[in-house]
Amino acid sequence: MVTAENVHKSFGHVEVLKGIDLEVRTGQVFCLLGPSGSGKSTLLRCINHLERIDAGRLSVDGQLVGYQERAGKLYELNENQVADQRRDIGMVFQRFNLFAHMTALQNVMLAPVDVLREQKKDSRERAMQLLERVGLADQAHKFPSQLSGGQQQRVAIARALAMKPKLMLFDEPTSALDPELVGEVLDVMRDLADSGMTMIVVTHEVGFAREVGDHLVFMDAGVVVEQGAPRDVLGNPQHRRTQAFLSKVL
Ligand code: ATP
Ligand code: MG
Repeated sequence: MVTAENVHKSFGHVEVLKGIDLEVRTGQVFCLLGPSGSGKSTLLRCINHLERIDAGRLSVDGQLVGYQERAGKLYELNENQVADQRRDIGMVFQRFNLFAHMTALQNVMLAPVDVLREQKKDSRERAMQLLERVGLADQAHKFPSQLSGGQQQRVAIARALAMKPKLMLFDEPTSALDPELVGEVLDVMRDLADSGMTMIVVTHEVGFAREVGDHLVFMDAGVVVEQGAPRDVLGNPQHRRTQAFLSKVL
């Protein structure tokens, strides 16, 4: 579903991704772990083409991200084509960035009506189903400020799902939450994983990675240090950098 080959990305003189290779298979829950500044968010943003890579190849669902290849040459996609690509990828961030002046239901309905041109009646019905799926049917008419952080994050997941994505990217979705609210968000993500969604999850929740993850990558300083089955990487890390990091978070 996602293939990265020797992906490089710099900001100014600082190289943040130094040749990333990875492969995410359809239906996999692919976890990314690593210290602050190791390039995890940058990698997710490249996959979603919020950042443009400097070198290497990155493809999602068989399509190059941001480019088209014709006769061995790369051509940049135009804005509309990029928007088309991005539509298939849902993203949930650390901070719940819901629209404050809209109810939970309106937040979930917005993109299907505006972007997919769905009928309001249909998208309202589907938005309600999605809110039910994340356990919030009874909160549909509340504004973000009236919801807990965990509830807001579940609305954000429902909103991403409303676009019927092929791939979901999660960037530390629980790290801004009070500890007692983390579980309800992880439960929703677990259900989503069980439904077969392909997910790339940046998280320090090692319990989630171990139980739900199919594959775990440990990144440090812009490189993949080691990867494998979460149980193996977490239980028996081979690299000194992984061992040092895990000794702090476990
Ligand atoms: P964290 O765990 O703190 O979220 P991360 O692994 O997600 O860290 P990134 O956010 O990808 O790390 O950042 C990697 C490096 O790139 C950092 O040194 C950061 O300061 C730098 N960086 C990220 N975005 C930009 C930007 N838009 N401009 C300049 N530097 C950036
Ligand atoms: Mg980050």
